[in-house]
Amino acid sequence: MSVDCHRYKPYSTSIKLVEYIWSDAKGVPRSKSRVLSGDVKNFPIWNFDGSSTGQAETLKSEVWLVPKAVYQDPFTDHPNAYLTLCETYEPSNEPHETNTRAQARQLHEAVKEKDDPWFGIEQEFFLMDSLTGRPLGFPSNPLQQPRAQGPFYCGVGEGNALGRRIVTEAYLACIKAGIKVCGMNGEVAPGQWEIQVGPLPGVEAADDIIMLRYVLHRLSEGTGVYVDFGAKPVADYNGSGAHTNFSTKAIRDETSGRDGIEAALKALEKRHKHHLQLYSGRNNDNALRLTGNHETSDPKKFSYGVGARDASVRIPSQVHEKGYGYLEDRRPSSSCDPYLVVTALMETVCSID
Ligand code: ADP
Ligand code: MN
Ligand code: MN
Ligand code: MN
Repeated sequence: MSVDCHRYKPYSTSIKLVEYIWSDAKGVPRSKSRVLSGDVKNFPIWNFDGSSTGQAETLKSEVWLVPKAVYQDPFTDHPNAYLTLCETYEPSNEPHETNTRAQARQLHEAVKEKDDPWFGIEQEFFLMDSLTGRPLGFPSNPLQQPRAQGPFYCGVGEGNALGRRIVTEAYLACIKAGIKVCGMNGEVAPGQWEIQVGPLPGVEAADDIIMLRYVLHRLSEGTGVYVDFGAKPVADYNGSGAHTNFSTKAIRDETSGRDGIEAALKALEKRHKHHLQLYSGRNNDNALRLTGNHETSDPKKFSYGVGARDASVRIPSQVHEKGYGYLEDRRPSSSCDPYLVVTALMETVCSID
């Protein structure tokens, strides 16, 4: 008898596995995968059923996915696996109404030559127990509260650093993927954490925040823990923000730094209300966080200060000392649309020719 192994199909490393990622109507990441063979810089336009994501009617359900940034897929050992962040479009070629990236990208194009704005965003979030719906460290009995805040900020050890494994795994996955994270720390409330991205020019910091959120959601799957990006998941404890650090050429420059910082603060003061609207987060959840308590500012008035954690904008003390560097806008909600945040800052702080 002869051997006839004609159905032998070796594991193929020549194909590409590509996960298309986009934001749904609520700003929550969605993704679907396909097998491709083309060039990494030229993945094809694809589409999805917008009627299942709150982005279209059943009768006209198609929304287009246009790849805009490519990352390595950190979740598999396959050598040609990628994540691609997409913008959404109507079949008529118009950006979908939920595609806030398109506008931010165009604005960045208009200001980058003169101002070259950079952003670094600090994403705060809670890890929640799926069974209780409360953050890690909270007793399952809803009438009982955990230990008071104190040991959790930059906390170390059992009972202080709650859920570090998931956060560290996400941090390392981001580095593997090419998402530009630049640090992480335990936050003030139990089960609360922060990962920072940047500094990156224009929309790229916002892209990397969407990707960071995606990675955290992916790594929570099957763990019994979910990630809550809401600004105030638990009353009476610190809420979550997305402090947005920014600079322009002028602000980063040794000679023009002080003038650049002063001009930016003046411009920001005039448009405080507009910024709060664009920073408001999902379901306007920032209103619950920005109270003037728990290291937040009073939303009724614009304020700034050196090293101040109760101000709208903080001038880091080292920046104040040197006279140049960057400013920290502490107002954006953790659930903000980062494209709207960078759009607001570019509109206000950069000069549009
Ligand atoms: P905090 O003291 O507020 O907790 P972090 O260390 O958490 O500050 O975050 C600092 C952020 O500032 C990072 O996201 C980093 O990318 C960003 N950053 C640093 N330098 C600049 C700069 N020149 N322009 C914009 N962002 C910057
Ligand atoms: Mn921080
Ligand atoms: Mn923080
Ligand atoms: Mn901060």
